[in-house]
Amino acid sequence: RKGTAIITGASSGLGLATAKALAETGKWHVIMGCRDFLKASRAAKAAGMDKDSYTIVHLDLASLDSVRQFVKNVRQLEMPVDVVVCNAAVYQPTAKEPSFTADGFEMSVGVNHLGHFLLARELLSDLQSSDYPSKRLIIVGSITGNTNTLAGNVPPKANLGDLRGLAGGLNGVGSSVMIDGGEFDGAKAYKDSKVCNMLTMQEFHRRYHEDTGVTFASLYPGCIATTGLFREHIPLFRLLFPPFQKYITKGYVSEEEAGKRLAQVVSDPSLTKSGVYWSWNKNSASFENQLSEEASDADKAKKLWEISEKLVGLA
Ligand code: NDP
Repeated sequence: RKGTAIITGASSGLGLATAKALAETGKWHVIMGCRDFLKASRAAKAAGMDKDSYTIVHLDLASLDSVRQFVKNVRQLEMPVDVVVCNAAVYQPTAKEPSFTADGFEMSVGVNHLGHFLLARELLSDLQSSDYPSKRLIIVGSITGNTNTLAGNVPPKANLGDLRGLAGGLNGVGSSVMIDGGEFDGAKAYKDSKVCNMLTMQEFHRRYHEDTGVTFASLYPGCIATTGLFREHIPLFRLLFPPFQKYITKGYVSEEEAGKRLAQVVSDPSLTKSGVYWSWNKNSASFENQLSEEASDADKAKKLWEISEKLVGLA
């Protein structure tokens, strides 16, 4: 039978390119978890995806109720859940003031981490009951959260500190809106959320890989300088960033290439190892990459897991 992969944020950029790459193989049905149904449907059509190769299900990660409803709706489709890809993200580098999810969390961490944390926890049992030979839960990471890299050292650097802001609810009322308890900084909040994504993947691996057989993985697909992720950046940045990445850092990848990379992590029979953060070298060959000290800190991962559980109502 065909595999079924859920991809969040499949209405643009990496998520759409991955959905297209998987659909084109004829071996996958993609459930596109998107907040804007019309945009997703237009995007899938414009990408030339066969209408039988995907189903769009509404998902707004900025609302925990929407995440729970999404899980119910997916179950009603009566399709197996073989792979889940947590891909959607917001990036607000120029925001002067924080914005908040429906549940009152700072938006970047609320969407990128907490929404996905609840989604992944809920869908774990669905993955477990699938009879697919290689079940996978993938959380898209990034180099920017990894302070062991050049890109990860561009200020403001990711730093979760002792997680006091997160423990306080990240709402700016009784607590800070930043995980480490500091002042709001949109670029840092994004990087922090990516560290959370990578820590969460490893904690899932430690807690559930042996018992469930599910492969947990993260990846850095390369710098896809053309996606909507940079939509809130200043115009000069948006103009110069793609050529800078292409010719200076040489870290640039096209959306199509990045989509093929993530599609490999979804389906390639050789990428079944769990607990791994995948990257690609200049020849587009995958390799297991090292995470920064903070992004591989097991004690922090455990603490993050326990606080996140409380915030999303699982504990
Ligand atoms: P895009 O902005 O193109 O895609 C982000 C997707 O997330 C969009 O489909 C967007 O939906 C969706 N999304 C945003 N907020 C929500 C929400 N509240 N609920 C549901 N969906 C939401 O960016 P990319 O494709 O670049 O980013 C995809 C992933 O790749 C992210 O995890 C990012 O961190 C990661 N990444 C990107 C890199 C890059 O260079 N671009 C590098 C490294 C990692 P909508 O279409 O409605 O706006």
